[in-house]
Amino acid sequence: MREILIRGAAVVVTMDADRRELAGGDVLIRDGVVAGVGHGLSSSGEVLEAAGCVVTPGFVNTHHHLYQTLTRAVPGGQDALLFGWLKTLYPIWARMGPEEIRVSALVGLAELALTGCSLTSDHLYLFPNGARLDDTIDAAREIGLRFHATRGAMSIGESAGGLPPDSLVEREPAILEDCIRVIDAFHDRGEGAMVRVGVAPCSPFSVSRELMRDAALLARDKGVMLHTHLAENDEDIAYSLSQFGCRPGQYAEDLGWTGDDVWHAHCVKLDGAEIDLFARSRTGVAHCPCSNCRLGSGIAPVRAMRDAGVKVGLGVDGSASNDAGSLVGEARQAMLLQRVANGADAMSAREALEIATLGGARVLGRTDCGSLEPGKRADIAIWDVSGVEAAGAWDPVAALVLCGPARVRDLFVEGRQVVRAGQVATIDLPRVMENQNRLARRLMG
Ligand SMILES: [Zn+2]
Repeated sequence: MREILIRGAAVVVTMDADRRELAGGDVLIRDGVVAGVGHGLSSSGEVLEAAGCVVTPGFVNTHHHLYQTLTRAVPGGQDALLFGWLKTLYPIWARMGPEEIRVSALVGLAELALTGCSLTSDHLYLFPNGARLDDTIDAAREIGLRFHATRGAMSIGESAGGLPPDSLVEREPAILEDCIRVIDAFHDRGEGAMVRVGVAPCSPFSVSRELMRDAALLARDKGVMLHTHLAENDEDIAYSLSQFGCRPGQYAEDLGWTGDDVWHAHCVKLDGAEIDLFARSRTGVAHCPCSNCRLGSGIAPVRAMRDAGVKVGLGVDGSASNDAGSLVGEARQAMLLQRVANGADAMSAREALEIATLGGARVLGRTDCGSLEPGKRADIAIWDVSGVEAAGAWDPVAALVLCGPARVRDLFVEGRQVVRAGQVATIDLPRVMENQNRLARRLMG
């Protein structure tokens, strides 16, 4: 039996059914699980003092392309809209291989961990030069984050009227075969799973209607989740109307892409009927506010989605369109963006925290994560609010989103300490970054 007691926090934010916040609270971890939340808890194990800190559930990232940490701030893509941005980056991504995929994933995962994330999904949809989904799963195991890898795909290249170059697309039978391989090899259905696998064709504009349909059938057969990009911007809606004769919501529904086991990234342009469809069908949304701002895509109707009962989580999206991967930064941006659209009372700091934690866990189908309650997995972020960013704050919980800090002091995943005193404790990050910079220089040519 291994115990860690997190003692005397300024506030413990539980995200339990009553959204209790415990001033001066403690959290007891036993064998990777939350064993107690309260006051005056004791343990014969390790004790971690949390005075001056806000303790929250680990944040959940519902959309990312980890490989893109190797293509941040690429000059030709800095000021382009979605389709032009993709066309700039595809040829660069085509030069990557297994080492680039693994190292860039480690860097992206480290950035997430430092900014509060304990559980992340990743959407890998290109496999150049022998790269495999396995490379990202290896990276997640090494750093110790809980990981939902999704096997993406593109099958319609330029010569068939698609957007990506032919060298980056795969044959559809091979895609489905590899989906089966990675599900059988890595997907853990059990409570407390550290790795799950999902099926995730890149977007309706890079795969065929048949692959979308077959992917949904396969995912249901295997009992895994489905993920893709949907309704990201005006170009995306125009493409759907001209190519499929319907809006994205209708396209998704027709092909089996709605339900409790489906989540879509962006959904910036969902209309009222599509929001109702998502609420009715329990379809989830990965809201990526920084990426939406960066690509000028628009403001997702998150207020309307939440009011209608749609499950919403946060996503940093790939580091080629953010270009940061800070999950706590994303919580702040989500709150600010709803206020731009709907006024200062449109989203509170606490609601942003709820979306970042419990909201994301629900989108990813995790009932064992997202809150600090006995029996839940011990995924815990400890934020030091005694620093300069929050000095003078009257409300430490709101301060976490309104003021800072931008990084965690400590992070636990399944009771294991991944960040200790502000540093990643599980990998040699400076060495990984050196490697990353070498690979980036090689990609630049
Ligand atoms: Zn994306």
